[in-house]
Amino acid sequence: MVGADGVHSNVRRLVFGDDPAHKRSLGVHAGIFTVPNEWGLHGTAVMYNEPGRVASVAAPHGGDAIVSLFFTADGLRYDHRDVEQQRRIVAEAYAGVGWQVPRLLELMWQAPDFYFDGTNQVFLDRWSRGRVVLLGDAGYAGGPGGNGTGLAVVGAHILAGELNLARGDHEVAFRRYEERMRPYVATCQKQAAGSPEYLVPSSWKKINERNRFFRAVRYFPAVKHLFKWMATRTATAIKLPSYPSPTEVGSGPGVAAGRRRGAPHPRG
Ligand SMILES: Cc1cc2nc3c(=O)[nH]c(=O)nc-3n(C[C@H](O)[C@H](O)[C@H](O)COP(=O)(O)OP(=O)(O)OC[C@H]3O[C@@H](n4cnc5c(N)ncnc54)[C@H](O)[C@@H]3O)c2cc1C
Repeated sequence: MVGADGVHSNVRRLVFGDDPAHKRSLGVHAGIFTVPNEWGLHGTAVMYNEPGRVASVAAPHGGDAIVSLFFTADGLRYDHRDVEQQRRIVAEAYAGVGWQVPRLLELMWQAPDFYFDGTNQVFLDRWSRGRVVLLGDAGYAGGPGGNGTGLAVVGAHILAGELNLARGDHEVAFRRYEERMRPYVATCQKQAAGSPEYLVPSSWKKINERNRFFRAVRYFPAVKHLFKWMATRTATAIKLPSYPSPTEVGSGPGVAAGRRRGAPHPRG
């Protein structure tokens, strides 16, 4: 059984327990929603910062605009099914913030696709127990800037490949999956650990430093390369193994799906 049910994984909770150490908050929360594009943005995004608060409006393809409100808050407690409560949390976090934020908050109340969550990383000593294995955010969420989609897709590729290679011996396959994935996951999670300060700078000084860095990208090729390296180093931190197709591996005595129902497992 593969638990690929995301950062708040129920499978993880049921099989590995509800240990708070498994899911570590990075202290940043986000409200994200779509609004009418009142600003005429097309192929661009604008961003406004105050310490601990970021508001951005983006319209990558024209059309409706996507609003992202990232803010820092420790120990927020809320009901994940209570969307109105979550909108209130965002409204309170942004009360008194300038720029277009009052208008964005007005529009937030009508947004049909309002999304709210904290940013978390997931750490477990093992990703499998018995015949259950965790995949993607459920087992090793990277956090912002931690290449979470890449981790999930690469993890799926390696897990499927190892299950195939091990001809159904899940213990061998799960062990190899962990061995291959652990260093990659560690690299991605390490990169994300410093991201809250970059995503939501905590002081005007840090906002100005970040802005200077962005401006420098335009004028200095070396900074441009540094930026590109930062943006891609997690994606390229693993050499993707190629696996034979199931037909190449063939069916054998260890292939669980190929065993007759009730037949003894070859390893007893
Ligand atoms: C705002 C935001 C921005 C992000 N930006 C990036 C980015 O730029 N680059 C990047 O690489 N990553 C990014 N990520 C992270 C990325 O989205 C995740 O790492 C990735 O989606 C993990 O994939 P997953 O399949 O493990 O989990 P998910 O994508 O979370 O999928 C889990 C699925 O399981 C389903 N599910 C849960 N419980 C059950 C159940 N009981 N029964 C049935 N289904 C269930 C859920 O509905 C969901 O569809 C971002 C995340 C967020 C929140």
